[in-house]
Amino acid sequence: MSKIVASAAIRGAKALVTEAEKLINKAIGEKGKEQKVEFPETAFFLPMANALLAAEIRTLTDMLPVLKEAKSLLHDEPTRELWLPYLGDALDSGIAALLAEEMICAIRYLYGEEPQPDCNGFFTDTILRTLGIQLVDGRMPGFAAILGAAPDNKTAVDIVREFQKRSIMTFVGSSANGKSIIDQLKEEKVEMGWDTYIVPYGRDTVTGIYPLNWAIRGALTFGGIKPGRAKECLLYCKERVFAFGLVLGQLDDIKYATGAGAINMGFPIIADTDIPEIRPTGICTYEHLVKEFNYKKIVQKCIEVRGVKVKIAEIPIPVAYSAAFEGERVRRENMHVQFGGKFSSAFEYVCSKPLDEVEDGKIEIVGPEIDDMKDGGAYPLGILVEVAGRKMQHDFEPILERQVHTFLNEAMGIFHMGQRNMCWIRISKEAQKKGFKIKHFGTIIHARLHDTYGKIVDKAQITIFTTQEDVERVMKEAVKVYEERDARLAGMTDESVDTFYSCTLCQSFAPNHVCMVKPERIGLCGAYSWLDAKACYELNPAGPNQPVKKGEALDSVRGEWKGVNDFLYNKSNKTLSRFHGYSIMSFPETSCGCFECIIAVLPEANGFMVVNREYSGMTPAGMKFSTLAGSVGGGNQTPGFMGVGRLYLVSKKFIAADGGLKRLVWMPKELKNSLSDKLKKRCEEEGTPDLFDKIADETVAVESEQLLKFLQDRSHPALSMPALV
Ligand code: SF4
Ligand code: ZN
Repeated sequence: MSKIVASAAIRGAKALVTEAEKLINKAIGEKGKEQKVEFPETAFFLPMANALLAAEIRTLTDMLPVLKEAKSLLHDEPTRELWLPYLGDALDSGIAALLAEEMICAIRYLYGEEPQPDCNGFFTDTILRTLGIQLVDGRMPGFAAILGAAPDNKTAVDIVREFQKRSIMTFVGSSANGKSIIDQLKEEKVEMGWDTYIVPYGRDTVTGIYPLNWAIRGALTFGGIKPGRAKECLLYCKERVFAFGLVLGQLDDIKYATGAGAINMGFPIIADTDIPEIRPTGICTYEHLVKEFNYKKIVQKCIEVRGVKVKIAEIPIPVAYSAAFEGERVRRENMHVQFGGKFSSAFEYVCSKPLDEVEDGKIEIVGPEIDDMKDGGAYPLGILVEVAGRKMQHDFEPILERQVHTFLNEAMGIFHMGQRNMCWIRISKEAQKKGFKIKHFGTIIHARLHDTYGKIVDKAQITIFTTQEDVERVMKEAVKVYEERDARLAGMTDESVDTFYSCTLCQSFAPNHVCMVKPERIGLCGAYSWLDAKACYELNPAGPNQPVKKGEALDSVRGEWKGVNDFLYNKSNKTLSRFHGYSIMSFPETSCGCFECIIAVLPEANGFMVVNREYSGMTPAGMKFSTLAGSVGGGNQTPGFMGVGRLYLVSKKFIAADGGLKRLVWMPKELKNSLSDKLKKRCEEEGTPDLFDKIADETVAVESEQLLKFLQDRSHPALSMPALV
């Protein structure tokens, strides 16, 4: 390692630790030792300190031992005379820098100074979980953290666009010469946020800790590594988290120190300035510190240095295409034309045909093309996708149809919402200028169907209608089929099938977890219905979704079958032997970590509450979602607590063995509203139409006493049911 780099990192770490100490003392002086400090919505305290030192920082006092540890990692700068190996010292400084930065940011939170304007600040556990899934399934190949500012705005935009194209999540922040890349992108009106894969963390280098203490939580969550096992956590990051830092503009001591911290985690640093390079010594997978002056090559360089595996779908359309564009919106003022929504009739419909009736790759547009449409106008649109394949089944049609949303959305400048005859599509002015045609919808759908569903789709042809009468005519047929499908799904019960489907996708981080997906119980992440799991099995017979023959019913009230138990025993590494599919009190199904909601018993109310991931407030269980999630997850069976998918709440089998819906006493308002039609219907079916209004939410109660009063005032049925515990 270069002496210049080591000296700078050591100086930077000293400055950071001194700053942290100053702030801690000041805060203790002003707010007292017992003052609580925390980052929002995390079960990992100050995650870097938690992962590396097993520290559980709850108060300012708790910071003192961590500060002491950071100090012990500081060393003297290498002297001119003494030429000792100083790589170790520089790396130690890096760890000291990260611990100090984390405490500085936590104290800023205490004083309301974080997050900075337009910045995300600390990344919550929720984000960790949702993006974690994308990491597990490979949709996201890696992460970039950019520090500084590009020489000009255009270069800044070009760089992030190159990352976007490759679906690489990019965290932007810090500054160089008084300018931050965040503001460069803002000036160029680049849309930033989790949906567009460009997330601003903060305008100084200290906030660079946010992507890093997010990555280290990956080791604790997905890697299942115990807090305090520093080496394993760092190694996990190196091997599993494909991240790197890109420093634009001059480096200072603080950047060197933070960079040394990142290098400890196996994340190399690429810079656009003349820095002394550090080539392999075995900490990062490849190089540690590398320079690249050519902005056209810099993104490629980052990818090579970190060994990120990128899969770009090559689709012959004139706009960029990648998952990073999925969340991008097309605002009215940027829109060239739109279809559907409340502006015109539009639909999309996938149906299967015999093999000889489909001509693969045929894309036909019936009616005017985009060139004949006026800027700013709304036009009718019908997308008919006809597929054929030896393994194709009618059951797969809705699954393929749902994908049209993702397929189209991933094109830059195309916005898609909804489905069926409730879809809404916009094409941006920019896309139109680049030559995007309506026909290209067909190009995309055809390419992606083959790419993603090649196992069931042998042929696909797409016909796109753009006249009012054609759209109305074909839509009538489509609506008939939509209705038939709904009726079929609604009629399907757990009793009507002899086979359930397992999902063990989450065993990658919760090794004993098994989801038992049934017609009336969706997988707890909400992503796998019984039909989805069945289709996935057909697509990938050796994959994580396996058919499970129910076998002999051992207890039909609690939902226990011999076939399910046998399967569970095998697939849970012989740690679990019984599932009660309809109970939360006895042998509940396991919870991995991606549950949409958590159900928790409230003994005092003789019922259950449910809280969804998006709700960050307090619950009557005395815990927030994040805290509950910490105790429920990991693939364990925890009677009284269980992770579930949203739709399970309105299933007839919802904790049926424990009394069902009548036991539900509290849920967040947003969740209640989003399910209201279905919930009301279920209340009626249960013979208690007024139950809906008896279920409390956070606007009437967030603690037990208020809740009980609310329930008593309305004589909630749970109060008069047999005692739960
Ligand atoms: Fe994970 Fe269960 Fe969802 Fe499968 S269904 S991805 S195991 S949560
Ligand atoms: Zn999961």
